[in-house]
Amino acid sequence: MDNPLLAPEGLPAFDRLHARAVEPAVDAVLAANRARLTTLAHQAAPDWDSLVTPLDDMAEALHRAFGPAAHLNAVCNTPELRAAYNACLPKLSAYETELGQHAGLYQCFQALAARADALQLDAVQRKILHDELRDFRLAGVHLPAEQKARFKAVQQRLAEQEAKFEEQVLDATDAWRLDIHDEARLAGIPAGDRAQFAAQAKDAGVAGWRLTLDYPSYHAVITHADDRSLREQLYAAYSTRASDQGDARFDNTPVMRDILALRQEAATLLGFDSFAAYSLADKMADSPDDALAFLHRLAIAARPRAQQELAALQAFARAKLGIAELAAWDMAYASEKLREQEFALSQEALRPYFPAPQVLDGLFAVAEQLYGVRFTPLQSVSTWHAEVRVYELRDANDAACGILYTDLYARPRKRAGAWMDDCLTRRRRNGRWQHPAAYLVCNFAPPGSDRPALLNHDDVVTLFHEFGHCLHHLLTRVAYPGVAGINGVEWDAVELPSQFHENFAWQPAVLDRIARHHASGEPLPAELRDRLLASRRFHSGLHLVRQLEFALFDLELHRAGPTPDIDVLLQTVRRQVAVAPVPAYNRFAHSFTHIFGGGYAAGYYSYLWAEVLAADAYTAFREPLDTAAGRRFLEEILARGGGRPALESFRAYRGRDPDETALLHQYGLIEEDKACATAS
Ligand code: ZN
Repeated sequence: MDNPLLAPEGLPAFDRLHARAVEPAVDAVLAANRARLTTLAHQAAPDWDSLVTPLDDMAEALHRAFGPAAHLNAVCNTPELRAAYNACLPKLSAYETELGQHAGLYQCFQALAARADALQLDAVQRKILHDELRDFRLAGVHLPAEQKARFKAVQQRLAEQEAKFEEQVLDATDAWRLDIHDEARLAGIPAGDRAQFAAQAKDAGVAGWRLTLDYPSYHAVITHADDRSLREQLYAAYSTRASDQGDARFDNTPVMRDILALRQEAATLLGFDSFAAYSLADKMADSPDDALAFLHRLAIAARPRAQQELAALQAFARAKLGIAELAAWDMAYASEKLREQEFALSQEALRPYFPAPQVLDGLFAVAEQLYGVRFTPLQSVSTWHAEVRVYELRDANDAACGILYTDLYARPRKRAGAWMDDCLTRRRRNGRWQHPAAYLVCNFAPPGSDRPALLNHDDVVTLFHEFGHCLHHLLTRVAYPGVAGINGVEWDAVELPSQFHENFAWQPAVLDRIARHHASGEPLPAELRDRLLASRRFHSGLHLVRQLEFALFDLELHRAGPTPDIDVLLQTVRRQVAVAPVPAYNRFAHSFTHIFGGGYAAGYYSYLWAEVLAADAYTAFREPLDTAAGRRFLEEILARGGGRPALESFRAYRGRDPDETALLHQYGLIEEDKACATAS
């Protein structure tokens, strides 16, 4: 059968990939893997190549069959693809649980671990065995048969419900639109966004301007529209997506209840008292209490600053904008106006200086200076959309060592947000190296008919962030796929490379390289650049308490038993940390895909946790693009992947344990000399 998803090597053939290929490919690989598993798990004296290597081969085949489909489901969602994707989820979940609960396989891993010395396994191999044995226990390998079966059923149902949660957010977002016929209502909104709204109306065959809930559209209105009622209308629609307060067809309420109950049940079956405790069993933080204490320490530092910032914003809004009482839909708008006044700076004024292709070239130059690697465009590689670009990564010896796909612009049927994903993982196969490949996906405002896509500085920071994830995946030197690149890295340390790379978007030397006017070629005026840099800490308190609200809500929600009252819990957390106004109808949790879609469940705190590591890691740089420190970061952090615990990698790089004061200093929450005194 000529199914492109069954190709054993090479990059995915996206141009030949049809939704109808997905399920047969997954079925074929699962059948072949199960057959192989039977013989694998009956070895008396397994060694690395008789146990781990074949399992890696099986995982690779499955990833090759399903990974491209999962990726397309996120970036080019169609009904056919979604159906195929959903049909595979329970099958994959069942298989994963079977593997995790396989008593014979578990015994083989125990036998291999017992022979680690005799077989002279290296430290990375031992780390893999340690992780595997832990994961067997976290999958319930030791449970009695009946509970094992229940655990498996719970995992399957969870996979389905998490996918449904994401679908309903996507559908609720796509179903909403507002057609505007009076241009006066769009006053304040930048010309580029208005042109995009007009193009959307034209595509839909209607007159005027079409507003949607895609993030660039929402962001343009909520940040810039002078018409307060328009901001309120968009805010109400956006903050009630997929909820009981929005379009009833997409209400996620029952799905969320199901997800929480299922997660609690899975944790209980394994003997944990909460899903949060279960989730943290393989993370860097010791326990939910450990993570909560960390968040509360940050809250104590951040909240007074956030309250001051809000009071100043309120006074400004009253005096200059005629807004007597700030509402939720005024926050971004008033903040932007205040930022313009304080720094004579608007995000929009910066856009012409940040054409997306030029920013990406600048990023590549930063990577070249820090790590000695080069990215060069590749033509003739199959992709999923005309806007996608492909680059080859070459190491310091000019040897090809990885592939990067970029898909930067928002469009319909594409999941919101920005992320990286793993396409291929580095490994040795049949005597040759398979190079890693990564997807870098964003949702920036697309190019116009007569100009490139223009980013604001927030977008630039986002691009540096996701690029950091990609470098982590692509610059790995680990030979074993289970811990190469981003694989096997503790979840709360995964954001270290990404947030670390955000720092470079704030360096004058880097800005001078990436920021040039798209039409005139003029560099970003130094004075404008300095005002941008001065604004880095603008509203850092408000930003931080918002992140703390998400992180605390997520952890508390997953400690609160099988049927928590989601709204009451959210109110409680908001009373503890939030300072900004929120209307009673706000249902942000109903579109909080980070935690209900899977990945970050009882793990949202990871962003802040890893931000401590990232801020502290950057303090080792003696100059903005310190090549020696960059090479050390490459050697001790990026190259190591999950081959050793994140804390050990950090110690190897920094020579000591992480220190929270670097983050507090970065946010401007403590004085410089205090940071130096405690961090020295
Ligand atoms: Zn990230």
